[in-house]
Order: sequence, then C-alpha cells, then structure tokens
Amino acid sequence: MAPDISRRGFLTGGLAAAAGLAVSGLALPAALAAPAGQSDQDLCTLLDLSKCIGCEACVDACRDQWQADLPDPVQPIPRSLPARVPTEDWSGRKQVRDRLTPYNFLYVEHLEVEHAGRRVELHLPRRCMHCQNAPCADLCPFGACQDEKSGVVHIDPEICLGGAKCKNVCPWHIPQRQSGVGLYLNLLPQYVGNGVMFKCHRCLPLLRKGQAPRCLAECPQQVQSIAPRSAQAAQAQALARDMAAKDGASPERWRDYVYGLEENGGTNTIYVAPLPFREINAALLKDHQAKAHKERADAQAAGRPPEPGNLGRPAMGLVKNSMGDAQNLTLALAIAPVAGLAAGLGRLFSKTRRLAGPAAAPAKDSDSQKGGQA
Ligand code: SF4
Ligand code: SF4
Ligand code: SF4
Repeated sequence: MAPDISRRGFLTGGLAAAAGLAVSGLALPAALAAPAGQSDQDLCTLLDLSKCIGCEACVDACRDQWQADLPDPVQPIPRSLPARVPTEDWSGRKQVRDRLTPYNFLYVEHLEVEHAGRRVELHLPRRCMHCQNAPCADLCPFGACQDEKSGVVHIDPEICLGGAKCKNVCPWHIPQRQSGVGLYLNLLPQYVGNGVMFKCHRCLPLLRKGQAPRCLAECPQQVQSIAPRSAQAAQAQALARDMAAKDGASPERWRDYVYGLEENGGTNTIYVAPLPFREINAALLKDHQAKAHKERADAQAAGRPPEPGNLGRPAMGLVKNSMGDAQNLTLALAIAPVAGLAAGLGRLFSKTRRLAGPAAAPAKDSDSQKGGQA
C-alpha cells in the first residue's frame, strides 16, 4: 500500500465515525492491521442495489467534494498537430451528471427492467471499479495511473499527460479526458499529450486523512459498505444467494446476481442485485442506445455540435481478465521500468512548474471543440 495511507488512522478517524454507515461488522479492524499488499485485504466496496432509491445524494456529495478542485482549461486549448487526437473540453458542461465526465466521477443509472413478467425499478451508481489487476495502472506509459494496493486505483493529475491509454485499456472506458489542463501545457502541447484523465479515486485524499468516501458516507440508504475484500466477497455471496432464492432461482445460481467479483480478474467494487446482471446489462445497453439516439437528434435540431454518444456510460457485460492476456502482460513488463522513471521525472517537472507559476499561454493557432467528443 502507499506509505502515506495510514490504515490505523483510517480506523480511528472517519471510518469509525462512519461505523453506522454500513462499515461495521465486516472485520474492518483486522483488515486495517493486516500487512499491505495482500489482495484479499484490499479495501473493497460492496453495493447492495436492492437498497438504492436513486436519490443521487452520492452524486451530489462527490461533486460537492471534488468539482471545485478540478482545473479549468487554458483558452484557447492547444490543438494537436497533426490532428492525432480530438480536443475534449467538458469545462462548459460541468452540470452534466448523467454520465462520467472529467468533472463528474459518479453517476446513477435509472432503469426499468422487464423481469419474470414484471417491471423492476433499479438504480445503479456507476464509477471506477478499482480493479485488482488494473490494466489502466499496469499499462500507463508514464506511471501516472497507480494501484495503491489498498484497493484504490488513482490517476495522478500532476503527471498525467492525457494520452488516454488508461481509458482505452479499461474494459469500461472509465477515465475521461479534459484537454487544456496539466503538465503537457509546459512540454510541447501541440505534439505531446492532450490534457489530464480524471476518474473516481475513491476519495483518496480523505482516506489518507482517515475519512470515509463521501458517496458512501452521504447515502441515506447505506447502499455501500467498505471492508477487506475477503469479507466483502463472502458477504456478496451470502446476499446473492438470498436474492437468488427470493427471485425463485436456485441459490446455487448466486453468481448471476453479483457483478465485480470476477470481472476483469476481480475488482474492488462488488455489486449485488435482486435480478441477474445479464438482464440488467441488456436493459442498460437498450437504454444507452435510446439515450444516444435522442441526444443526437436533440443536438441536431438545436444546431449544437454532436453529442459524444455513450462515452462515460459503462455497461455491465461479462469482462475477461485483461491483464491475463499475454500481449498486455508483456507490454506491462516492458513498460514498468520506463513508467517508474517517467513518473519520477513528471513529479519533478510538475514541482518545478508549481514553483515557477502558472502555465504558459498556449500557442496562437489553437482551438477547442466543445462537447467532449471521443
Ligand atoms: S447509492 Fe445511496 S445516495 Fe446514491 S442514489 Fe442510491 S440511495 Fe441515493
Ligand atoms: S475500472 Fe477501468 S479505470 Fe477503474 S481501475 Fe479498472 S481498468 Fe482502471
Ligand atoms: S469514492 Fe469519492 S471520488 Fe469516488 S465516486 Fe465516491 S465520492 Fe466520488
């Protein structure tokens, strides 16, 4: 784990305060005292979707906590030459909360699913899954995306160049890019990088102070709990067996009612739902298609730039372990030493930049494309 995350502080501080918020009773003290680096001791969140009422207090809490800290881009935003990658600018659309954006780390899907002859209302909070074998961290060429070994995967905005490798290798394409911010402005902004990638960091700055993630603490339904992964996996199985039985299925089919336990080789975000996830995913895909279609038509009618489709709206399909792929593994091994060096240099450069003052103004032949196109 990162040396500056104090598991003891975590226990005695905010998480103790959050004991009434569904973190108690799950062997947290033992996990916090356990040696770092054991994957079954990663801190893992468990979301019981049968409790979620879709109020979005979690989204409000996340936005309230983090949005003001997120940088605004320089204007005009430098354009990549040659036009390798599109400029993505969400700074004029910070109010968007129905998808993941650089300024919105969490959103809630509101679904109606046809299931066993009835309509089931379901609400799904979505954000980074914090994978145990995170390809975004293993394959970031600059070492900017890091696996904290405490179950948190985060992107260091000080050294990220916005190349979007993390988004491309993430099975859910979670990280989102804001152009015109970050270290690349001080390098060769038209040729190197394109901004910074942002996503849920599981409130890492709060965790480091011993406080609970905001979305967990503010939920009125105690949908989420946080505890060592081994305990959460056992709890997920017990809940899912119960849900399968209530749904009229054999408890032996419990895996159908769980998501995140095995996806992408296992994640530190586990969902349990009162109906099978293959049906939830089918409903999600249908819903996303309808939304994208409507947004495209609305934008066209209003003469606005095209909407970015379903960018930032992850599905919940089966996901194989991407780091089990020989090609990715070989690439990760090749990248590791270079990424470590690049991260060190990036931090040094970033510190120098902070001491030197604000970023230089971008070159004159720059522009921006509002809307956050992929
Ligand atoms: S997780 Fe909690 S706060 Fe978020 S929408 Fe569901 S009930 Fe509301
Ligand atoms: S969900 Fe995507 S962004 Fe999050 S840790 Fe996994 S691979 Fe990385
Ligand atoms: S853990 Fe923190 S950063 Fe992540 S979605 Fe919740 S409030 Fe936002």
